[in-house]
Amino acid sequence: MRLTGVLTTGFALLVGLAGATAAAPGAVAATGLTAVTATAAVTDYDPELEGADPPNDPSVELPPTTLATPSFQMPFPCGQSWTGNSSASSAHQSWEIDFNRGGTADADKGDTVVAAAAGTVVISAHQGSTNGYGNLVKIDHGGGWSSYYAHLDTRSVSAGATVSQGQKIGTVGNTSKPGNNISPHLHYEVRLGTSYPSNIQKAVFNGTTFGYPAQTLTSKNGCGSGGTNPYTAQEVCGSGYSVIDSAALGTAGTVYLLYNSSNGYNCVATLKKTSLGTDTATTAYLEVQGKTRVTDSGSYGYYAGPVRAAAAGQCVKWGGKAGSSTYDSPFEHCG
Ligand SMILES: [Zn+2]
Repeated sequence: MRLTGVLTTGFALLVGLAGATAAAPGAVAATGLTAVTATAAVTDYDPELEGADPPNDPSVELPPTTLATPSFQMPFPCGQSWTGNSSASSAHQSWEIDFNRGGTADADKGDTVVAAAAGTVVISAHQGSTNGYGNLVKIDHGGGWSSYYAHLDTRSVSAGATVSQGQKIGTVGNTSKPGNNISPHLHYEVRLGTSYPSNIQKAVFNGTTFGYPAQTLTSKNGCGSGGTNPYTAQEVCGSGYSVIDSAALGTAGTVYLLYNSSNGYNCVATLKKTSLGTDTATTAYLEVQGKTRVTDSGSYGYYAGPVRAAAAGQCVKWGGKAGSSTYDSPFEHCG
């Protein structure tokens, strides 16, 4: 019985699973075979099921073509670690994934959900009692590919909107059809074409197929040059410090020199602009003339530093490294 597995696989569980067979509403026509119509009769539908097929819009859902598979990333911001589980719900047909993180059942509620790949929003609506998805966003990626984000607490995009990869589309929630009682999680699926449920595809993140049935992954979504470093030099160095100089490290980052006029300390921090959330070699240093250089060099996701030293009335040399770019100042800022 699935219930045992559900209870041991985390919080992405449905309450009151009945072990029912999932009905797939909608017509299924297989070429060369007798067309079969599976009618979504009310008596066939288990109201406890999370899934079943949401309505497709034939005007926007194109048949599969030979277009390349979209470059999917995790549906969460760069650097976040989430555990996906495809077997946590009896409503799952094949390769759907429920995502959770955090130590309690409600820990994920309100967390940001982002687009796994660029595309056009074709559904952004609460599904009511039509199916168990609750607040659903569906993104059409072209070539017959689409992705589904279900049970959302809030939706922040509308049907017809163009979204970029990594753009926020909503927040994790526990919405479903009336009467369903589920824990907050993100239900994620990828489909190719319209023949549900055979159109559900194995999810691929950052070029690697998800480790079915369960795997914990760190999101690379938005980690590239399009991402934004969530930290500032002032935050790294602390209160009282203000930026007095900076130098670009190519496109990989920026090294900042800060000064705290209340205690006469300088501070240096190197903030990355690329590979955000992924540990890469990053360095920041500060050398007060006549003293030993202070260096912070390591493998960091967002920044190196802070390195601080008392330097009132003395010249300092400062700099750092990110990616393949290095900056070294002369002795300066001698005041
Ligand atoms: Zn699910």
